Amino acid sequence: MLENGVMLQAFEWYLPNNGEYYKNLKSKIEDLKKKGFNAIWLPPVYKATGTDDVGYGIYDLFDLGEFDQKGAVRTKYGTLPELQALIEELHQQEMEVFVDVVLNHKAGADFTEEFEVVQVDEEDRLQEISEPHLIEGWTGFNFPGREDNYSTFSWSSSHFSGIDYDQKEERTGIFKILGENKRWSEKVSHEKGNYDYLMFADIDHNHPEVQAELFYWGEWIVDKLNIDGMRFDALKHIDGDFMEAFLKHLEEKSDKELYFFGEYWMYDAEEKNQYLDKIKYNTDLFDVALHYNMEQAAKDSANYDLRKIFDQTLVQEHPTIAVTFVDNHDSQPGQALESFVAPWFKKIAYGLILLRKDGYPCVFYGDYYGVEGEHSVTGQKEIIDQLIAIRKRYAYGEQTDYMEDKDLIGWIRHGDEDHPGTLAVVISTGDANTLRMQVGDVHAGKIFVELTGDNAHEIKIDEEGYANFEVGPGTLTCWAEKLAD
Ligand code: CA
Repeated sequence: MLENGVMLQAFEWYLPNNGEYYKNLKSKIEDLKKKGFNAIWLPPVYKATGTDDVGYGIYDLFDLGEFDQKGAVRTKYGTLPELQALIEELHQQEMEVFVDVVLNHKAGADFTEEFEVVQVDEEDRLQEISEPHLIEGWTGFNFPGREDNYSTFSWSSSHFSGIDYDQKEERTGIFKILGENKRWSEKVSHEKGNYDYLMFADIDHNHPEVQAELFYWGEWIVDKLNIDGMRFDALKHIDGDFMEAFLKHLEEKSDKELYFFGEYWMYDAEEKNQYLDKIKYNTDLFDVALHYNMEQAAKDSANYDLRKIFDQTLVQEHPTIAVTFVDNHDSQPGQALESFVAPWFKKIAYGLILLRKDGYPCVFYGDYYGVEGEHSVTGQKEIIDQLIAIRKRYAYGEQTDYMEDKDLIGWIRHGDEDHPGTLAVVISTGDANTLRMQVGDVHAGKIFVELTGDNAHEIKIDEEGYANFEVGPGTLTCWAEKLAD
């Protein structure tokens, strides 16, 4: 990662299904680069169940908007040439591009097959609730529209471990597929007994043919799109040994150093730590705990104890692998894991991820540009741009925390050799307040001003390098030395 890098999650759930996404985003890249972003996380770029699919209902990993399948050549986002043009523009601007990788499941099979299953309890997947019996399930994939381009592999029931629909009886349920070596993967989340099964046709990552095909695909996509990294979806449902081997394989086969990060959506610290041991820190992870802490802090406002905002978080416990974020396409209003950080708190939240020492911050498209429609969100681009600019200019070197009160905290960034200058950040979730902090006696007598336009006062640093930094009610202020124009 670039020093003080910032990533943009360049999509949200409710983008229009018009195939214009790649073109629209391409026109924004120059501005994003200027504003300080150095990397973009793209949505799943593969053919899914239809063009109205956000991309997680994945049908064909080898169809990047190139073949007439599932009703169109394009995906929700556009065509392969448009995607390639976007990536070219990103690389022109010396930005990195990460694609969303969905390896847990496949959807929208071409035909059904008959195979033996046992039904399991939805809430305890280790509990079998039927005798072995035959069902008719959607597990046959031969991609007639792609005609064996790039890969001749056909998927059948033996390559999957579970499915949730019996076509014969027109019945839903979680059906574990039986057969030689068939079982749920053990190195997955233990929620619901065993959380291997999430949705659609669950890929069996223990099957050697599946492993070979996915390894091959991994090499293929890195080469085809010249990507710089991958964001892994649904890691808690994918065998940890497989992921480790997959990452190792790509690291060996790729000429460039790829950046891997993933979604392991959970709050439980112990389970998280077990998982981190398992994958041996080969992939960075989203800081889900920090997201939930921020959601709670926004809800409780002045009653929340801000001194605990980093408790249990990845950025505190495993700072080198934390991707910090405020919200994403799953937590936004209307979505499955809805847990949206309230708008009034966004400036504080982005300050918490952009202006501190640890974590690779990821800005959410919906927070930045906004979300239209029924579940609308107002974008806060201007505020986020300001905070990124402050990050790029001042957020370097050592950090001194002032965990003053439950509704008042602040910190100092002391700068480093290449980035002299000192930054003072203050947050109040209660009333207007002041926080006495020391910026250092080298600043004695200097005038500090507020950088986000929140406060027009000039503050003089005293002889010992202290000042009382001001903050309005329910906001964040950033102070640095007043510079000659
Ligand atoms: Ca799985």
